Amino acid sequence: KRREVYAEETVDSVCPFCGVGCLTSVNVKDGKIVKVDGRNGPANENRLCVKGRFGFDYVASPQRLTKPLIRREDAPKRADLSLTADNYLDVFREASWDEALDRAADGLSKSFKDKGGAGIAGFGSAKGSNEEAYLFQKLIRQGFQTNNVDHCTRLCHASSVAALMEGIGSGAVTAPFTAAAEADCMIVIGARPEQNHPVAATYIKQAAKNGTKLIVMDPRGQGLMRHADYGLKFKPGTDVAMLNAILNVIISEELYDEQYIAAHADGFETLKAKIVDFTPEAMEPVCGIAAETLREVARLYATSQKSIIFWGMGVSQHVHGTDNVRCLIAMALTTGQIGRPGTGLHPLRGQNNVQGASDAGLIPMVFPDYRPVENADIRSEFEDAWGRTLDPVRGLTVVEIMDDILAGGIEAMYIQGENPAMSDPDQNHARKALTTLKHLIVQDIFLTETAWHADVILPASAHAEKLGTYTNTNRQVQIGRPCVPMPGDARADWQILIDLANRLGLNWTYDGVPAIYEEMRAYMASLANISWDRLERDGTVTYPADGPDEPGNEILFGQSFPTADGRGKIVPADLVPPSELPDADFPLVLTTGRMLEHWHTGAMTRRATVLDAIEPEPVVSMNPRDISAQGLETGQEVTVETRRGAITLTLRADRDVSKGMLFIPFCFFEAPANFLTNPQLDPFGKIPEFKFCAARIAPAHHR
Ligand code: SF4
Repeated sequence: KRREVYAEETVDSVCPFCGVGCLTSVNVKDGKIVKVDGRNGPANENRLCVKGRFGFDYVASPQRLTKPLIRREDAPKRADLSLTADNYLDVFREASWDEALDRAADGLSKSFKDKGGAGIAGFGSAKGSNEEAYLFQKLIRQGFQTNNVDHCTRLCHASSVAALMEGIGSGAVTAPFTAAAEADCMIVIGARPEQNHPVAATYIKQAAKNGTKLIVMDPRGQGLMRHADYGLKFKPGTDVAMLNAILNVIISEELYDEQYIAAHADGFETLKAKIVDFTPEAMEPVCGIAAETLREVARLYATSQKSIIFWGMGVSQHVHGTDNVRCLIAMALTTGQIGRPGTGLHPLRGQNNVQGASDAGLIPMVFPDYRPVENADIRSEFEDAWGRTLDPVRGLTVVEIMDDILAGGIEAMYIQGENPAMSDPDQNHARKALTTLKHLIVQDIFLTETAWHADVILPASAHAEKLGTYTNTNRQVQIGRPCVPMPGDARADWQILIDLANRLGLNWTYDGVPAIYEEMRAYMASLANISWDRLERDGTVTYPADGPDEPGNEILFGQSFPTADGRGKIVPADLVPPSELPDADFPLVLTTGRMLEHWHTGAMTRRATVLDAIEPEPVVSMNPRDISAQGLETGQEVTVETRRGAITLTLRADRDVSKGMLFIPFCFFEAPANFLTNPQLDPFGKIPEFKFCAARIAPAHHR
C-alpha cells in the first residue's frame, strides 16, 4: 500500500556502498529514487543501514556531471583546487562526446608513442561493476602493454590479500560473516563493523546475544565492546606483539591441533622456534594488555569448537599490515579453526565491489582470478585471447604510481571513479603528482577533487543507472539493475570504456553487459559455473560453485588449500614498529578511518542530504581528558599538524579514543585527513600506514 503512494516502479538491486552487499528494492517515481527498502538477500535478510536506506539522493544531485568537459587552453593546470558548480566553467569547457573521447585517446596514444607502457597508468574503481573492472584492466593491459593498473584495494586490504595468498593461496574470505551464527568464538580485530559494515555487525551482535563468545581488539573503544566477553584496547601499532603472545600461549600450553597441522600446514616448527620469546608477560608492556587476559583469549580461541576471525583496516593499514594478517592466519592454521562451518578467516571488505574488482584483475600483479602476469603460460593465454603482446612484469601500485610520476616516468593517466586527490596518503605529494601529469582523464559522476586536475572529464553513470554484477565480502556475486535514467549526456562506464578502446584500435564488439560478463567468466575458474543466465535466475550466487546447478560454496578449504601442494603455510612475524613514532615535536598518534554516515572520500555521501545533515563538518576526535589536559575545549576550531601538512577542523570529545591519540575521518574535502598521513608502505602489500603517524594539535588561531 505504502509503495503505491511513493513509487511507480520498484527495481531489485544492490546497495552501492559497503562490501556487505545488501540487496535492495529501489522505489522510483518520476524518474527519481524516492525510497529504498531492504530485500531478502543472503547478506542482509531485509536489513539496511542508514547509508543504504537514506543515502540515495546523491544520484539526483544537481552537482552531477552531465556533459564531457575539456580543460581550457589558457586554464592553469592545477586550477585553484576549489572548483564549484559556479566556477568550474572558468577552467573547463563543455565538449561533445566525440571531441572529448578523441582528446582522451589522443593524449594516451601520444604518451604511449613517446614512452611506451611505462608512460601510462590507470586507476579503475571498486564502485564500478565486475564487468567495468574487467574492461578497465583489459584496456590498460591490451592497449598499452603495461600492468600499471590498480585501484583502492591498495589502500584497504592489499596486505590482507598478500598474506592470504601466501598462507592459504586465496585472497578472499574462507567463510561469510553470517557464519558468526554457527561459531562458538569470534574475534573482531581492527574493524568497526557497527560503523563500516553495519548490517554485518547485526549478525555478529546477534551471535553474541545467542551465546557466541566475542573478543573485540581495537586501540579505540567501540560499541561492539559492549557486547563482548573481552574488549582489548591495545596500544596502537602493537598488533604483532599482542597476536604473537596469543600464539605463544597456543604453543606453550599445547592448545594447537597437531593432527590438523600434520595434514594441512607447513611452518609450525619455524613458528614454534620464533614465538618462544613472545610470552604474554614480555608482551604486556608492549601492547598494554594484561598477560592473564592474553592467556584467557588464546585459550578461548584455540579450545572453542568453532572460532572465526573478522578483521578490517585497523589490521591492514600498517607498514606491518601483512605481518598482522600472517599472525591471524597462523592462529587459524595452528588450531585448525578454518574450513568448517563457524570457523575461518574473514577480512571485511570495504567498498561494494572491491572483492569483485580484485577478482577481475584490477591489480598490477595479476590477471583475472589472481593469475600472475609473470607466468609465461598464463600470459600467453591472454595474449592469444586479446591479440596483443602483454607486459611480462608486474606493474606499479597506487602510491608507487604517484612517486613515478614525480620521478619523470608516468606522464598520462586514466582514472575511473577513484579519487586519489582525497584517498592517497600525503596529499601535498599526491596532488603535486596529479598536477605534473601531461595528460589526465577522469571519468566520474561528480567534479571530484581529482577531476579538478584533469585535462578531460567524462561524465559517467551512478550505480543506480546501469546493469552490472557486484561481488560482496562474502564472495556473493549479485546483479545491480538500472533504476533511473542517467542525467544529461552521462553514459555508463562500460560504454565509455568501449568507445575509448575502439578509438585506440582495440576493436571491442561487446553488445552489452552480459557479453562482457561471459568473456570475463571464460578466464575465471571461480565463476565457471555461474553463468549470466544463472545470475538472472537466482539473483545472487556465491563463488565458487561446483556445478551449474550446485549452490555456491560458502565455506572453503575443508580438505585442502589452492596452493601448489594443497597445504597452508604458517609464516612467523617479527615486531616492526610503526614508521613514524611520536616525539617531543609531534607527541600524539593520529589514526584515520571512516564514520557510519559517510563512505570513503565522501563523494557520494556528502551529497546525500540526510547523511550530510547528520555529519556535516570535519571533526577530530580526542579523549576528553587529553582535551582538558591540553587546555582545549570541545567544539572549538583546532589545527592538527604532522610532518606533511596541517588541517583545521572542529574538536570533538570521544571517550573511545585512547589517551595520546587523535582520530580523523577521511571523508571531508574541507579538511582532507590525508594531507597529514604517512605514505610509508608495507613492503609486501604496498599499503600505506594510514593508521599511525605522529601529530600535534593546537587551537586554530595559534597558527
Ligand atoms: Fe549498504 Fe553496507 Fe549499509 Fe548494507 S551495511 S545497507 S551494503 S552500506
